[in-house]
Amino acid sequence: RRKKIVQECERLMDRPENIRNIAIAAHIDHGKTTLTDNLLAGAGMISEDLAGEQLAMDTEEDEQERGITIDAANVSMTHEWEGTNHLINLIDTPGHVDFGGDVTRAMRAVDGALVVVDAVEGTMPQTETVLRQALREGVKPALFINKVDRLINELQEGPEEMQQRLQGVIRDVNELIRGMAEEKYEEENWRVTVEDGTVAFGSALYNWAVSLPSMQATGIDFGDIIDYNRRGEEGINELKEQSPLSDVVLDMVAEHFPDPLEAQPERIPTVWRGDSESDLATMMQEVDKDGDVVFMVTDIGMDPHAGEIATGRVFSGTLERGQDLHVSGTAGTNRIQSVGIFMGGEREEVERVPAGNIASVTGMRDAIAGSTASSVEMTPFESIEHISEPVITKSVEAQHMDDLPKLIETLRQVSKEDPTIQIEINEDTGEHLISGQGELHLEVTTQRIEREQGIPVTTGEPIVVFREAPREDSEVVEGISPNRHNRFYISIEPLSEDLIELLKRGEATNDMPELERREALMEAGMDKDTAQNVEHIHSSNILIDDTKGIQHLNETMELVIEGIEEALEDGPLAAEPVQGALIRLKDARLHEDAIHRGPAQVIPAVREAAHNALIDARISLLEPIQDVRIDVPNEHMGSASGEIQGRRGRVDDMYQEGDLMVVEGVAPVAEMIGFASDIRSATEGRASWNTENAGFQVMADNLQTETITEIRERKGMKTELPATVDYF
Ligand code: GDP
Repeated sequence: RRKKIVQECERLMDRPENIRNIAIAAHIDHGKTTLTDNLLAGAGMISEDLAGEQLAMDTEEDEQERGITIDAANVSMTHEWEGTNHLINLIDTPGHVDFGGDVTRAMRAVDGALVVVDAVEGTMPQTETVLRQALREGVKPALFINKVDRLINELQEGPEEMQQRLQGVIRDVNELIRGMAEEKYEEENWRVTVEDGTVAFGSALYNWAVSLPSMQATGIDFGDIIDYNRRGEEGINELKEQSPLSDVVLDMVAEHFPDPLEAQPERIPTVWRGDSESDLATMMQEVDKDGDVVFMVTDIGMDPHAGEIATGRVFSGTLERGQDLHVSGTAGTNRIQSVGIFMGGEREEVERVPAGNIASVTGMRDAIAGSTASSVEMTPFESIEHISEPVITKSVEAQHMDDLPKLIETLRQVSKEDPTIQIEINEDTGEHLISGQGELHLEVTTQRIEREQGIPVTTGEPIVVFREAPREDSEVVEGISPNRHNRFYISIEPLSEDLIELLKRGEATNDMPELERREALMEAGMDKDTAQNVEHIHSSNILIDDTKGIQHLNETMELVIEGIEEALEDGPLAAEPVQGALIRLKDARLHEDAIHRGPAQVIPAVREAAHNALIDARISLLEPIQDVRIDVPNEHMGSASGEIQGRRGRVDDMYQEGDLMVVEGVAPVAEMIGFASDIRSATEGRASWNTENAGFQVMADNLQTETITEIRERKGMKTELPATVDYF
């Protein structure tokens, strides 16, 4: 049977008009896994009894234990709609905010996003985040409201109340869509409505669903749905027969999500910055299976048998074994060892995968999640934006020295699979640093190393990542080279929030066409003269060259940039990264002779000038903060808000939602370590909660010196600050 399905998938692969590439996006626990299992069961991919128990999508052991989905897993299934079979490629996305990078990558490979919302809880912060990631990638939304059985069985709602509640959810989702995708919302009617059939609702747990088309076809109304549910198992079975979940949902998918032929012409210009007039652009827009191969890698995984697997979207050409593909960001090519598709979470080898499909290949050993692999050299796809930067770090050490090489190899692998993880390897001390999106993110990652690789590790306490940022305009400051023959004059200003955001989103980069970058910077508020003189961008800092006609400066600029980067990577306060600095090179004196203006002279001079200018700009320490939301029964509301306030946090809002109280606030990441167990004991385990990274914030003046000293001590720096840091 499985073989038959694979054959059918292979047949459909060549008919882009019958393909839908989709992702499911949901807040944790809203039912994505249960829904996926039942779609697979409905499509005959796994047995119906196993669905729900087997958790086909949660293939990693730790995911099943925790009951959350971490890695984007992929499945393909077939579904008949309007008399024609369709191939539905589904990419699973993680529901926890700590794994945000995976979500963005998954979104790039699909054309439709099925947003799943719990009918009782309604839209949650994570619904918003995931939806934003979909819309900014140009992915079309549709809505499935899940757990409708709870409205009937738990909340005992009648038809009227039920309808009102569902309308409330639809309204909230549309509010979000309107805010995030203004143009498409109006032009292409991206709002989700019952009337258009872009909304379905039901129960993934009990395996039934309805939509307006299905209600019209069967004559079922809200009253009937309630009656069926009240009659227990027998009633639900009857309802299920009329409106099987997989038929209703997959019909919606087939009807409303664009096929690759429709989607690629629109999506290529948003995700690819190469020449839009080139042949390659045409091949991608036309989903040309005979064209050059363009494969965008969205995920790297390990298979116990096949080894490292790169999964992604084929935008043009046809993937086959033996092809040599260029991998973006590397010099050479990699040869494809095998080509496959995913079926029910298992990989199935096939002969070839043509444009418009999701494929998984082995042999791409240099690829990382986000790479472009292509048969011709090409402009890579725009680097995938990570909305959040790492905010927390911990050290990892092998317990046995013998494991050291294996640990280093594994850490490299981990950062390839999940680019939101950053690794610093120290081969001398054996103490490596691993940075990520939150406490849980690091915990899951280190547990995987222990379990999958069988390497016992010792981990240090989690440490928060800080930033340093200028707060005022500085004077022009001089930096002198050790041989005193070279002088650099630098001033520094704080960048505006808008410009910092632009840089963090990767919308102005060094490798962009200059004109385009200038426009982006000016649109975010930079004046024209400054935008014209941009010399270099380093994370969220910009170097401006305000000099004119200085001899030898051109040949020295590489070294100037190196000096600036050194100054920015280790800020003057606590050697934490600098953000939001606009650095102006105002003037320079250079020695005639290249020998006297080498790296050992220029780099320290520039670094010194930049550090002193930063201090003159009253550089201060910033710490990462998180938005916190706690849902809790009324009687525990006081303790819940106390848990935020007691952590140097602030409660912004408290309101009733259903039978629970919602407490919303913000707190520093440093204070949120250990929050999970504290909130559990403070509320007798009755609270559910969610955090989301919310950027960096200047620390209060009275905490600055103390925190800076702590960091300097930890790093083995001398604890006294430069005397010029006298402003706290
Ligand atoms: P995910 O985190 O989004 O993948 O959510 P899961 O599919 O793991 O579901 C989370 C919990 O909600 C599990 O205990 C499910 O059994 C339950 N659940 C899922 N769908 C439904 C539903 O339609 N009705 C009810 N009552 N519970 C559901």
